[in-house]
Amino acid sequence: MSRTRRDPRTERALHLVAGTARPRLDRAAAPAAASPTGRPRRDPRAEVDSALVPGPARRRLDRTLRQTGLTGQTGHIVHLIEPEIALTAPPRIVVVEEPAFLVAAVPDAPGGRLTAHDRQVLGAARLLAEGGGAVVALPGGPVEELGGAGADRSQVLAGESEFDPEGRAAALAAALRRLKVRHAVFPETAEGGDLARRVAAALGEPLFAAAESLTARAVTRAARGRRVEQRATPPRLVSLTADAVAAYAGAPREAREINALGEVAAVPRAIVSARVVPADPATVPLSEAEFVVSAGNGITDFERFRALVAALRATPGASRVVCDAGLMPRAAQVGASGTVLDATCYFALGIAGAPQHLQGVARCEHVVAVNTDLHAAMIERAGLAIVADAQEVMPALLAALQAEETRE
Ligand SMILES: Cc1cc2nc3c(=O)[nH]c(=O)nc-3n(C[C@H](O)[C@H](O)[C@H](O)COP(=O)(O)OP(=O)(O)OC[C@H]3O[C@@H](n4cnc5c(N)ncnc54)[C@H](O)[C@@H]3O)c2cc1C
Repeated sequence: MSRTRRDPRTERALHLVAGTARPRLDRAAAPAAASPTGRPRRDPRAEVDSALVPGPARRRLDRTLRQTGLTGQTGHIVHLIEPEIALTAPPRIVVVEEPAFLVAAVPDAPGGRLTAHDRQVLGAARLLAEGGGAVVALPGGPVEELGGAGADRSQVLAGESEFDPEGRAAALAAALRRLKVRHAVFPETAEGGDLARRVAAALGEPLFAAAESLTARAVTRAARGRRVEQRATPPRLVSLTADAVAAYAGAPREAREINALGEVAAVPRAIVSARVVPADPATVPLSEAEFVVSAGNGITDFERFRALVAALRATPGASRVVCDAGLMPRAAQVGASGTVLDATCYFALGIAGAPQHLQGVARCEHVVAVNTDLHAAMIERAGLAIVADAQEVMPALLAALQAEETRE
């Protein structure tokens, strides 16, 4: 990573007060341009001044009140709900106007959301696009957050119906031909892996399937019962296993919509009509569940807990203590010695958040927790927390869900 180097001498010179016999520095008079990174500089003295509580003889600071401005205006105090937002410049969107070549990323994006694996696929495409290329995302439906995940261009390429793998593969092969992509990266999942093989057959090109590591120069995978490592320069079509490459973590990119629709060759349809039947969340294995609601030792009313899980159309989970007590089946245990989840949302009721339990929810995108203890580790891990008795929260949630259902 290359960062602009600081030059302390130049910075010092910018603060020098002119006309004094001895060198005197005025740190408060820092010009904004003095920041080597170009970001507005913090002024700690002005911040302290703004937190001074007027009145008492002894100096007293109220740290809950922060000043929004960057220059010191003593006495003008404003609530700052998100201090970082005011103190850092908004992220710049990276634009690649005329890419030298294109690299396609084909995310699964179930339900219009990128999975962790999809983000890694976009991260891999970014690695392959180093040196003037652009990443074009080609999902099967509208997807949010493509720019944040590293896409410079995007185009939705769907089949004719909800489940049309042949149609989607034909549309994708035509788009790859039309865009003359240098590489196309797929997730090695049930859907993405199937699509990659269909596209490879349609293009008559080899697929480097189930790659376990990828750089701009080499791609590897295990073979012959993992006794051999196959290494190659990245071919045009690659499918990537989970956790092979890190997700893109740079500045958001443009994800500009383009027209990538190529001429689709007529495909003889083997599947006449099909549709996706959603799995029953009550019986789906925990490792595949999208939304898990778990009970911990803080739950005493299991009848309400089960009613809440059903009303939320979630998959039930539990902490080890609850499973050990026989209150939930062992298969429901979430954690290091239970199931490690890949869910989008995890709702923990009355769970302390022991390290072994937190290992099981490390990959969950959103965590919601209910606990009576504000300092519980689960509350710290949660993006949204309710500090209250779970026995009271559950009926309140059930009533709110019921009220919403009757309104609809
Ligand atoms: C080798 C090993 C492996 C383990 N593997 C796992 C594993 O895979 N999964 C796992 O879960 N554990 C595992 N454990 C156990 C783990 O260390 C914890 O003991 C366990 O997770 C605690 O479960 P808990 O949070 O439900 O219970 P507790 O630790 O008893 O916490 C209960 C929580 O509920 C809150 N609470 C109490 N009353 C209420 C109320 N009325 N409303 C709301 N909140 C309330 C309390 O504040 C507390 O935070 C393992 C332990 C070992 C040693």
